[in-house]
Amino acid sequence: MGELVSTSDLGDGTRCVRGGHPEPSGGTPLLPGPVFAAPFHLGEDVQAADFYGRAGNPTWRALESAIGDLDGGHCVLLPSGMAAISTLLRAVLRPGDALILPSDGYYATRQFVSDELVELELDVREIDTPGPWHDDVFAGVRLVLLETPSNPGLNVCDIAELAERAHAAGALLAVDNTTATPLGQRPLELGADIVVASDTKALSGHSDILMGHVSVRDEELAQRLVRARTLSGSIPGPFETWLAHRSMGTLDLRLARQAENAAALVEALREHPAVSGLRWPGLPGDPSHELARRQMRRWGGVFRFELADARAVEEFVRRSELVVAATSFGGLHSTVDRRAQWGDPVPEGFVRFSAGCEDPADLVADVLQALA
Ligand SMILES: *Cc1c(COP(=O)(O)O)cnc(C)c1O
Repeated sequence: MGELVSTSDLGDGTRCVRGGHPEPSGGTPLLPGPVFAAPFHLGEDVQAADFYGRAGNPTWRALESAIGDLDGGHCVLLPSGMAAISTLLRAVLRPGDALILPSDGYYATRQFVSDELVELELDVREIDTPGPWHDDVFAGVRLVLLETPSNPGLNVCDIAELAERAHAAGALLAVDNTTATPLGQRPLELGADIVVASDTKALSGHSDILMGHVSVRDEELAQRLVRARTLSGSIPGPFETWLAHRSMGTLDLRLARQAENAAALVEALREHPAVSGLRWPGLPGDPSHELARRQMRRWGGVFRFELADARAVEEFVRRSELVVAATSFGGLHSTVDRRAQWGDPVPEGFVRFSAGCEDPADLVADVLQALA
């Protein structure tokens, strides 16, 4: 594969379409297909080229170039969001370290730390995303992990301010950017050191693969993560990587439609008697709105609300013809997930709604009839 194009001075849509693509060359595909190789032919200088598929693969580098360009850092691809998070935590944390985690963020991150990092005897400080962020919580901390907007609560925190305070305390600041995607928010530009994300969600967006990545500003940390990937063997498959790259080409379009659908649904549900606790960062008046407007670049398709109880949610899904129950978000299809069934500390009728790419009028009509 030849040189990859540079897209960093172009708009979101162009960067999604062209990112990580090779310079045009006669007789070659626009986006080269996956390279399937366990060993590669060894050249004269065995360090100079790909030699083994666990250490490097051109299909990874193409997608890493595209995502890293959007994030504004060095991207290291991993086979799922949890692989990205667990690789990062294992690489950065030492025995006895203090770690700040969001109490209202993705549950598997907290579970990984409590169940799989027991031997590190970490001092884990769980803070609600909106705070309060007292000064003393930063004392002696190695890593602060934020999740903004948080999943499933859709609360936000000030990345720039917390990065400054984390740095003053000598800590690294990481942001789980899954919900926003790099088009919705660029934490590295706001002062974060690290971005982690599940690209299983909107970035790949077709509900058919798992993928994840870590992007960092520091080249040494990037190399440390690559080493961890090579030695742990936690590597993405070339085919999934290529599918994610192919899918990312429409990220800008998909996000625009998802946000349009979320806006239409939120408007239709605002005054609905069966609905309470409606939250979407894009909604003026939402507790997250003002801060999100300052630090985010655009809205996504995920919002949340409450129905009376678990039965009401089941009934809603049964009556809907377009919305299905599924525990992921950011895909083409509109989905709902009743989070209490997975152990999130939320009411039984709490629903995370992921607006897909259907027509807004169809979705609004369907959701209103399903709630009637
Ligand atoms: C889904 C998700 C993850 C985990 O990603 P997987 O690809 O399922 O491993 C991590 N963080 C957030 C915010 C998520 O939504």
